[in-house]
Amino acid sequence: MKHLNSVDPQIYRVIKNELKRQEENLELIASENFTSAAVLAAQGSVLTNKYAEGYPGHRWYGGCENVDEAENLAIERAKKLFDAEHVNVQAHSGTQANMAVYFAALKLGDTVLAMDLSAGGHLSHGHPHNFSGMFYKIIGYGLDRKTETLDYDRILELAKRHKPKMILAGASAYPRKIDFKQFRRICDKTGAYLLVDMAHIAGLVAAGAHPSPVPYAEFVTSTTHKTLRGPRGGFVICRKEFARKIDSQIFPGIQGGPLMHVIAGKATCFKEAMSANFRKYQRQIIKNARELGKALAKKGFRIVSGGTDTHLLLVDLTPKRITGNDASLVLEQAGITVNKNLIPFDRKSPAVTSGIRLGTAAVTTRGMKEFQMRKICALLSDAIDSSDNPARLREIKKEVLNLTARFPLYPDLKI
Ligand code: PLP
Repeated sequence: MKHLNSVDPQIYRVIKNELKRQEENLELIASENFTSAAVLAAQGSVLTNKYAEGYPGHRWYGGCENVDEAENLAIERAKKLFDAEHVNVQAHSGTQANMAVYFAALKLGDTVLAMDLSAGGHLSHGHPHNFSGMFYKIIGYGLDRKTETLDYDRILELAKRHKPKMILAGASAYPRKIDFKQFRRICDKTGAYLLVDMAHIAGLVAAGAHPSPVPYAEFVTSTTHKTLRGPRGGFVICRKEFARKIDSQIFPGIQGGPLMHVIAGKATCFKEAMSANFRKYQRQIIKNARELGKALAKKGFRIVSGGTDTHLLLVDLTPKRITGNDASLVLEQAGITVNKNLIPFDRKSPAVTSGIRLGTAAVTTRGMKEFQMRKICALLSDAIDSSDNPARLREIKKEVLNLTARFPLYPDLKI
């Protein structure tokens, strides 16, 4: 970092401050995690210098022998990890992984049945200002009002009525197990392709802590940076028959040169995800989420669907008479990072919301367990109750600092 500091002290300071923020705060954003120092090293390497348009063994540039090896390792490890027929590791992001599948499987204007954004779907599942909502006819499915879980009979009804070319399963804010067998059954009955976007749960799936969608779906997309704990990026799994289509939609379809430093980081992440330690880590994430949910419920928060099977909790703040937006700002003052989130059938706007989304992947990476979840609950609840008491919020922030200091993040990282 001394080179960066001498060339660009402003950016050096940004990185130093961000490391301090990550070390000191309680990170409860469900889509975030902390990569290992090994992944950081791979991503911050000279591989960023290399152009490698094409695929291993078939590049448009010379000098690709080393990056070919990195990409082959990433592909082979991902195939083994997810028991997949074909994997493309070049997608720069989860959205681009999804875009490649839409372009490979559909014609412009085709109908797609996907989880409504207000029920927990992602922007790339049909938001009107996203390519998905602009290029395709999107029909949204929601949740059962009473159980706040997926209603597979209703999804089948919608599929029969609208005859989608593709059905999309997977979400950004759904705390329960998704039954991919049910989705397959619906697709078989209606002749639709199944795309499962497992971005949030990929780590759980890799560890066998959530059923895998791979045996059921023609296409599975994911990010690498959430529960999977790799570098920021995406990948696509598909059946062999779609391999060429997917590869050519990623390149040259929607991307140019692959980010070889990120692909190396993905390879390292996939290797780490094969370990017994990683499987233990994923099981702890779920235990922690359940403990946090139970503790919050005891404090009077309403947990959407009554609990969680994953890393994620949706918390309805209505009983606390505070909006998701206000709560996230208050918690930030106390050093607790969360995001506001719509709850099912929310009457408030997406900018305000009645809820917050919490995830335990990042705090579990630091080594925190059930005992610390109860402590986090106490701090979070105290902060919400002290929303108009800045002095108390400052005291809570000190307690957060005491807690995070006991679980160092990158002890060997010298900046
Ligand atoms: N799919 C799901 C379900 C997500 O939750 C996200 C991101 O949060 C994405 C895709 C998109 O990932 P990216 O931000 O890398 O485009």
